[in-house]
Amino acid sequence: MADMDATTWAELREGHGGQLPAYAWPGGYPLFYLCADGECLCPACVNDASNDAGPHRDDDASWRIVAYDTHDEGPPIVCAHCNGAIFSSYGDPDCPVCAGEGVASADCPACGA
Ligand SMILES: [Zn+2]
Ligand SMILES: [Zn+2]
Repeated sequence: MADMDATTWAELREGHGGQLPAYAWPGGYPLFYLCADGECLCPACVNDASNDAGPHRDDDASWRIVAYDTHDEGPPIVCAHCNGAIFSSYGDPDCPVCAGEGVASADCPACGA
């Protein structure tokens, strides 16, 4: 998990055409963003300018981004704002369908969709 401060935030945006990345490079692993209130947000919601998310939001822990990380394994993470799913790269080890198969959760009929 990478800590998010103003410098990290600016560098990430600069390196991705002004947007925060949805996938790690290299590898293409799905990314999620962790807020100060412990909730997770999807890349689309942290990129939505009307939300004004970022490390600067000392006034609102639900929009203050403190870290970001890849979602490697496990059930989908649900975005606290839009309820969208962030699928793990390798599926859920507790899922009877994709466990041990190494398939991405988005491709698993039990985890995806
Ligand atoms: Zn979202
Ligand atoms: Zn599954």
